[in-house]
Amino acid sequence: MANLPNCPKCGDEYTYEDGHMFICPMCGNEWTAADAQAAAEAGIIRDANGNELADGDTVVVVKDLKVKGAGILKQGTRVKNIRLITGASDGHDIDCKIDGFGAMALKSEMVKKI
Ligand SMILES: [Zn+2]
Repeated sequence: MANLPNCPKCGDEYTYEDGHMFICPMCGNEWTAADAQAAAEAGIIRDANGNELADGDTVVVVKDLKVKGAGILKQGTRVKNIRLITGASDGHDIDCKIDGFGAMALKSEMVKKI
């Protein structure tokens, strides 16, 4: 069976293919492989709410995150002046510096723009 992409709108994994379209049963989103590729190539990185992020944005962490060797990065921690990493293979697509933690990488789905 083909490995279908998750819904780019709601992230649902139960998407199915209908001809050249992909369809999401959860939110009704329909898209094509060309759309998905265009979005990936444009390097669009979205936060937990699906808002587009940009270099220099300020975000807050949406859930407690364990940081190796540094303890817990608390939900609600403000992170200023983020830098986006396009094409991050492990999902850590935000480069930033956090007081008390130093330079680190975060996943975009763990933050929201403020
Ligand atoms: Zn969806």
